[in-house]
Amino acid sequence: MIKYNLECSCGEQFESWFQSSSEYDKLHKKNLISCYACGGTKTVKKSIMAPSIGTSSKNTVSHNLDHKKEFLKNVKTKLKELREYVEKNVEYVGDKFVSEVRAIHYDKKKKRNIYGTASLEQTNELKEEGIEVQTIPWVEKENA
Ligand SMILES: [Zn+2]
Repeated sequence: MIKYNLECSCGEQFESWFQSSSEYDKLHKKNLISCYACGGTKTVKKSIMAPSIGTSSKNTVSHNLDHKKEFLKNVKTKLKELREYVEKNVEYVGDKFVSEVRAIHYDKKKKRNIYGTASLEQTNELKEEGIEVQTIPWVEKENA
């Protein structure tokens, strides 16, 4: 059901319910929508007043929240997988990350994948030097 705000050629404004917008169009074409004030059928659709019955805004919100919860759960799972992958496949160098990554970059050491810790400032410095680094969103295992 759709509620339209209608305006008659006489200037009267009124609201009316229709099964759908196409139902309104059908009735409007056949001049079956009459003004309650003058009985005229030259009504103009002004605006939709309310969306369909049955999907109250409350339902929509809770549905979206469920969806979000599911989404966040998936993200967490993915991040956990990422962490596990990094831990298995990438060498941990801890807070030596910045010096190690520079060594690899400048000393042409054998390329290897490393991860460790770096401050945002250090990360930006490396990027300015043209060294590709990526920040890994690290999830705590107990939360995942
Ligand atoms: Zn009228």
